[in-house]
Amino acid sequence: MTGASQAAGDCGPGSRGPVLVWFRRDLRLADNPALAEAAGSGRPVVPVYILDETPDCRRFGGAALWWLHGSLRSLGESLESAGSRLILRRGRAGEALAELVRETGASAVFWNRLHDPLPVARDRKIMSGLREGGLDVRSFNSALLFEPWRVSTKSGSPCRVFTPFWRSCLAREFDQPVAMPVLPAAPASWPASDVLDDWELRPTSPDWASGLRAEWRPGEAGAARRLESFLEGARVERYGEDRDVPGQPGTSMLSPHLAFGEIGPRQIVDALAALGPDAERGAFVRELGWREFCHHLLFHNPEMGERNLRPEFDRMPWREDAAALRLWQRGKTGYPFVDAGMRELRTRGWMHNRLRMIVASFLTKHLLIDWRLGAAWFWDSLVDADWANNSAGWQWTAGSGADAAPYFRIFNPVAQSKRHDPDGAYLRTWLPELARLPDRLIHAPWQATESELAEAGVELGATYPLPVVDHSFARQRALDTYASRIRGGS
Ligand code: FAD
Repeated sequence: MTGASQAAGDCGPGSRGPVLVWFRRDLRLADNPALAEAAGSGRPVVPVYILDETPDCRRFGGAALWWLHGSLRSLGESLESAGSRLILRRGRAGEALAELVRETGASAVFWNRLHDPLPVARDRKIMSGLREGGLDVRSFNSALLFEPWRVSTKSGSPCRVFTPFWRSCLAREFDQPVAMPVLPAAPASWPASDVLDDWELRPTSPDWASGLRAEWRPGEAGAARRLESFLEGARVERYGEDRDVPGQPGTSMLSPHLAFGEIGPRQIVDALAALGPDAERGAFVRELGWREFCHHLLFHNPEMGERNLRPEFDRMPWREDAAALRLWQRGKTGYPFVDAGMRELRTRGWMHNRLRMIVASFLTKHLLIDWRLGAAWFWDSLVDADWANNSAGWQWTAGSGADAAPYFRIFNPVAQSKRHDPDGAYLRTWLPELARLPDRLIHAPWQATESELAEAGVELGATYPLPVVDHSFARQRALDTYASRIRGGS
């Protein structure tokens, strides 16, 4: 059994009441230790999901709510096929659980741990409250390969640099995934459940989710299909080469499935191990290592989503420029690579990692806008919104993070575009208004002549914007600001 439980008491022969299994960001049946342990007890199992929108918990953004709807529907169907049900409740999680305990006569509550500071604090309180009431409460690890307290520096403190962190992880044994359980007999009667559609998690008017529906299949089966196609299509074998080419499907696109726990990292590592050792597969597992590292950082720096990890960045004179922020959000900065990334985000609720770095660098360095505003936009727009990965990604790019890109690393959006999308395949997908420009001009349309633009049907300032800021000017402004306010310390 992986993920040793944190147990109180024993579910011995005296306690025959049902076990509540509280699902959170672990919306799957396989490799779900809380569910497996509950099923193994032989007592009736009552699976529960609680939509907690109180300040105890982090509220989902719009795209993630859309995903949640699909994922809960899928989980409910899987449980019904297994002769069970998913009970839905809305409200403060502690109160909803206490009510369910009363209604069902449950004598135990099991869940899989989260590592985001808000639910960590909430869950601690809930655990002690339920235990005081005499319940058997246990939590397990399903989300990570190595929980944050299992890895440390040689001196025993939390890690702040990725490479030694990952080296230390690789020196340990990876746990095996937990088998899918056979669920015992249903409880004598089921407690009432909300109706998923009544929660109205999906947008209605305007319905902005058509791009999400076209791309994604939320749920455990959708996650398994994504992994299968990544492995079977041999994409994983070319991962090291293709992962930086956004015009090709070079990465796994497993992030939303991982964020909602429809698949766990142990399952992915296990599937890769079955294919045998290979350097490219190692490169892919290393990316899972970044996910582990971000969760490690967040657990040990609970304010990482709101505060600079490097305090000297508190002196940064971020510009307040609502108009520029809006252009960035809409994908109308006039820099095709930046705009293509932001349009991909709006349509798919997802963005390629290379683009995430470039658009984040553009916002924080070219526009000198606070990384927290960018992170908030991502939080609302991403189907894979994950507090640890998002906060770490933004702080890394802005330069304020623990193991961050140095402040003088300012991505040139045109050079990046030419390097990572030389034939403009990615740009043409997301910016159809530039599609007829030749490859040599599509990365920087303002360098085209009047007649070249006319031939491609482009009118700068009308069909496509002029650059919101000049690259050389913006670069120098960022360097001067960092040098005087951060390095110089004024
Ligand atoms: P693959 O390349 O196939 O990698 C496999 C898995 O490894 C991913 O699904 C993800 O879980 C993990 N992973 C890969 N790269 C990273 C990384 N740099 N950091 C942490 N984990 C990683 N990822 C999120 O899941 N949610 C976010 O909210 C998020 N916000 C980000 C914001 C910024 C500014 C940046 C620079 C990165 C962010 N990332 C985030 C990390 C990364 O961009 C995505 O995880 C990745 O693009 C997802 O695509 P994939 O599943 O095809 O990744």
